[in-house]
Amino acid sequence: MAALFDPKKNQIAAFQKAIEDNSRLIGQLFDEIGKLYYRQYRDMNADVSRDINARCESISHLYVDNEILRLKILYERGFKECKNCKKENLLEHQYCSACGSKFPESNDINVVTTVDPERFGVIVPEVNKVPEENEVKQTEGATAMPEGLYDAIPQETEEPQVTGGTIPADDPMTEPTD
Ligand SMILES: [Zn+2]
Repeated sequence: MAALFDPKKNQIAAFQKAIEDNSRLIGQLFDEIGKLYYRQYRDMNADVSRDINARCESISHLYVDNEILRLKILYERGFKECKNCKKENLLEHQYCSACGSKFPESNDINVVTTVDPERFGVIVPEVNKVPEENEVKQTEGATAMPEGLYDAIPQETEEPQVTGGTIPADDPMTEPTD
């Protein structure tokens, strides 16, 4: 009788339901990505990359969520997973019974169920900072150089770096004179 009201069972059932909900959402997002891609196939001018990327990001986050939930279910059952070899170990183990890796000192649920988001394709925010700065620079540089101008620069200049688009857009370009 008591098993019916076992809080652990209820907790595990809630985690399992959350995994199912996430998985359903992942399926919907994949459907949407497919439709967006098809829209681009039909209309080359449709810019769907941002919409597709947003959904890919969401999927990655949901994968992380589901991995954490899976580890939480394991935890409720009295197990933890070795980060090195994926072997299930009893919570009280200090070292992995398969590969000997040391487990974290704490057996707190939040420590045991830690997941590296990058393993699931989640991009760390640091990367996003660089294009932002470039965007500001480009709009500030009022004098954008016409494309053909590079050809007018004398090739004999001392700078070997002058090739392609290596010159910043906001370069004053006052050096070469006729
Ligand atoms: Zn191991």
